[in-house]
Amino acid sequence: MVKEFGGGVPLSKNFTNKLSIIPLGGLGEIGKNMTAYVYGNDMIVVDAGLKFPEEEMLGVDIVIPDITFLVENKHKFRGLFLTHAHEDHIGGLPYVLKTLQVPVYGTRLTLGLVEAKLREHGILEQTKLIPITNQSEIKLGHFKVSCFYVNHSIPDSVGFAIDTPEGLVVQTGDFKFDQTPVDGRHADYAKMTALGERGVLALLSDSTNAERPGFTMSERTVGATIDEVFRNAQGRVILSTFASNIHRLQQVIYAAERSSRKVAVIGRSMVNNIAIARDLGYLQVQPTTLIEPDDISRYEAREVALLTTGSQGEPMSALTRMARAAHRKVEIYPGDTVIIASSPIPGNEKSISRTIDQLFRIGAHVIYQSVSGVHVSGHGSQEELKLMLNFIRPKYFVPVHGEFRMQNRHAELARATGVEPNNIFIMDNGDTLEFQGGVARLGGKVQAGAVMIDGLGVGDVGNIVLRDRKLLSQDGILVVVVTLSKQTGTILSGPDIISRGFVYVRESEELLDEANRIVSSTLQKLATDNINDWNGLKTGVRDALSRYLYEQTRRRPMVLPIIMEA
Ligand SMILES: [Zn+2]
Ligand SMILES: [Zn+2]
Repeated sequence: MVKEFGGGVPLSKNFTNKLSIIPLGGLGEIGKNMTAYVYGNDMIVVDAGLKFPEEEMLGVDIVIPDITFLVENKHKFRGLFLTHAHEDHIGGLPYVLKTLQVPVYGTRLTLGLVEAKLREHGILEQTKLIPITNQSEIKLGHFKVSCFYVNHSIPDSVGFAIDTPEGLVVQTGDFKFDQTPVDGRHADYAKMTALGERGVLALLSDSTNAERPGFTMSERTVGATIDEVFRNAQGRVILSTFASNIHRLQQVIYAAERSSRKVAVIGRSMVNNIAIARDLGYLQVQPTTLIEPDDISRYEAREVALLTTGSQGEPMSALTRMARAAHRKVEIYPGDTVIIASSPIPGNEKSISRTIDQLFRIGAHVIYQSVSGVHVSGHGSQEELKLMLNFIRPKYFVPVHGEFRMQNRHAELARATGVEPNNIFIMDNGDTLEFQGGVARLGGKVQAGAVMIDGLGVGDVGNIVLRDRKLLSQDGILVVVVTLSKQTGTILSGPDIISRGFVYVRESEELLDEANRIVSSTLQKLATDNINDWNGLKTGVRDALSRYLYEQTRRRPMVLPIIMEA
C-alpha cells in the first residue's frame, strides 16, 4: 500500500484507477479557490486564489490555501488552469509558483493580468503561461481539458470541461448568464448543452448567489444608470469600482464619450488594468478620451469624469484618500457627483460607510449601491444556477465557491432540477471525492486550510501569534523587568514595569506602585519556597500580577516578566 501524503490522513488506497476531486480552498468560504484533480500519476489544479483576512486575523495581509497536498504530489502536477483573473482565483498563484514550477493555462486577458502580477513578484521569466480559447483542447496525462465561455464581472471568464477515464467533469468557474453582454460575447450555451448531451459525471458549480431568487440583472442596466448620471451631472463625476471589472470600465468610457467628458484614471491597479485590457483589445477607448490627472484643472467641471479605485473603502486607496482630503492630486468639491459602483465585500461595510459619510460632508452628491442601480452582481442567481444544472445534467453535483449556507441552498436547487439527492456532496476544503466505476464516495481528508501572509512572511503567522495579537489589542501589555542576584536570589534592581495599551501610566501611579510591591513580595515568597527555576519564577510573577490587575481593573493585559541574573 502506498502512503500518498504525509501531512494529512492517508487515503485508504492510492490514486490508481480512480479519479479524486479535492477542493483545497473556496468551500465553506468566499475566497482562495483551488481544486485538485488526481488520476493515477497525474494531477491538475483549477485556480489558485487568495482571500482577504477576516477581522480577527489582526495584521494579516492576505490568506492563501495550504498547498501541502500539491507539494507532496508535485511529481504528478501537470498543469494549473485558471477560470478568470479575479483575486480569489489567481491571487495565490505567485506563492504557488514560488514553490512549484508548473505550466499555467488561461485565456488571454486572464494571462495578461497574471503576467503583471508575476512580474511584480519577479517570477514571470521562470513561468510558462499558455493561452487557451474555447477551441483549445489540452491533453495532460489522463486528463483532457477544454473550456467554455461564461459571463462574469471580468471578461474572458471560462468554465472547464475535464475529460477523465472515469467520465466528464465540469467546473463552471464564477458565472452568470447575461443575455445582453457589454462586449457582445455570449456564454457558450451550445457547448454547455453539448456537454450535457455527452453525459457528465460531475458538476462543480458557483454557489455565491444561491440564496438569491430570480435572475441577476444584465451589466447593461448599470450602463444605462451611468449614462444618465453622466448626462445630467452639472459638475464632475467620480466613479469608483473594481479595477478588474473591465465591462463596467468600458461602460464608463462610453458614457463619458457620449456626454463629451474626458476621463482621468486614478489608482495604480486601475491604471494598470486599463492599459492591459486596452493592449489586448478588451477595452475600446477613443484616442482623446483619457487625460492625465494633472490636466483635470484645464477642463470645466462638467467636461471631466474620474475613474478611481477605492470602492471597498480600502484605507490607502484613491477614493478613500480623496474623501479624507489627503490625495496628492485630486480634491473633491461640493457639487461633484461620486458613484460607488460596487457592492461591499463582507467585512468592508464599515469603511465604505465612513467614506460615503466623508464625501457627503464635503458636499458631494453620492450615489451608492443601496440607493440606486449602479451595480449588479457577477454571479448567477437561482434561476441561472438551475439553468446551468439543466444544461449540464450531471450525475453527481458538488456546490462550490460559497459559504456553507450557500452550498446548501445550491444543493436544494440541484435536487429541484432532478439530481438524485444521494448524488449531491456538500464538501469541505480537504475532503476527497473519489470516483471509481462511475460511482462516487467521500474518501479520506488531506491537509488543507489557510496560510496567512503578513508582509514578507508566508505562513509564519499562526494561531498562537494571532492569539497574542488579539490579547494585545484587547487589554494591552505589561512588561516586568527585574534583576536577581545569582548567588542569593535577592532583587538587585527593579522591578520596573512598562505598560503599553493597558493604563495611562501618569494617572495610574498607585496601581503600578502596588503592582511593583506585588512582584517584589512574590519573588521573595518564591525564594523562601526554594523556587528558583526560570519557569517557576515567571509563572509565579505572572499569576500574582494578573490576579491583582484583574481585581483592580477587570482587565487582562498580557503580562511579560523578564527576569535577569547578575
Ligand atoms: Zn470572479
Ligand atoms: Zn470567485
